Amino acid sequence: MAEQRRADIVENLTNVRNAMQNASSPQETRLVAVSKYKPAQDLLYAYEAGQRHFGENYVQELVDKSAQLPKDIQWHFIGHLQSNKAKTVVSIPNLYVVETVDNIKKANTLNKACDGLRPDPLRVYVQVNTSNEEAKSGVAPADCVKVCQHIIDSCPRLELSGLMTIGMFGRDPSEENPDFKCLAECKNQVEQALPGKTLELSMGMSEDYVQAMRAGSTNVRVGRTIFGERERPQKKE
Ligand SMILES: *Cc1c(COP(=O)(O)O)cnc(C)c1O
Repeated sequence: MAEQRRADIVENLTNVRNAMQNASSPQETRLVAVSKYKPAQDLLYAYEAGQRHFGENYVQELVDKSAQLPKDIQWHFIGHLQSNKAKTVVSIPNLYVVETVDNIKKANTLNKACDGLRPDPLRVYVQVNTSNEEAKSGVAPADCVKVCQHIIDSCPRLELSGLMTIGMFGRDPSEENPDFKCLAECKNQVEQALPGKTLELSMGMSEDYVQAMRAGSTNVRVGRTIFGERERPQKKE
C-alpha cells in the first residue's frame, strides 16, 4: 500500500515537472506542492523525489508537519492568516514565504510578529483579488501599489517579493485568463512605481499551471494533481 502510494506521488510529480518543462516559458518557475489535509508521509515521498517547496493553508498543519519533516523544506503559507496566529507562523525557521498578505493591517501584524523571532526579513507576497469576488481575500488591483509601497516603507522586517492570486474557479482554459493578466499588470504597475523592485508572480494551480506559466507565473501552487483529491477532515481549526 505504502509503496503504491509513493509510486503514485512520484509519478504525478514527474508528470507535473515534465509539463512545466514542456511549457517552455521564458521565466523560471518554481513548483510548490500544496499538501493541505495530506499526511506528512505523503510529503516525505515527494521530498524524497526532490521536492523542496511545499504549501500549507492551516497553521496547525504547518506547525505539525514542519516539526516532523526535514528542515531543508521551504514552507509557503498560502492560507488565510489570522492575526493571533502570526507569531506561530513566523516562528517556523524554515518558513520561506507568506503568500497571503491581503491588507495593510496584516502586513503590520506580520512585521511586528517577526520582531525577535527571525534574523532575516520574512518574504511576503501581496494577495490580490483579481477576480473581484466578494468571498475572496486580497487587495483590490487598484490598491496594489499602495499596499506594496506601505510594506517597503513601513515594514522593515518584511521583504516584499511578489504578488499572488487565486483567481476565479472554472475559467475556460482555452482562453486568456483575466486573473493572470490582471496580476501581471499589477506587477508592472508596482515595478514602475517602485523602481529597482522585481516581483514574483504566484499564480496557477492544478487546472491551469501551464497556462499560468505562459502568462508569466514564477511560482505555481499544485495540490490535487500531485497528491490526489482531498478529503476534508472532520474537524479543522
Ligand atoms: C488548495 C490550494 C491550491 C492547490 O489547489 P489544487 O487545485 O489542489 O492544485 C493552491 N493555492 C491555494 C491558495 C490553495 O488553497
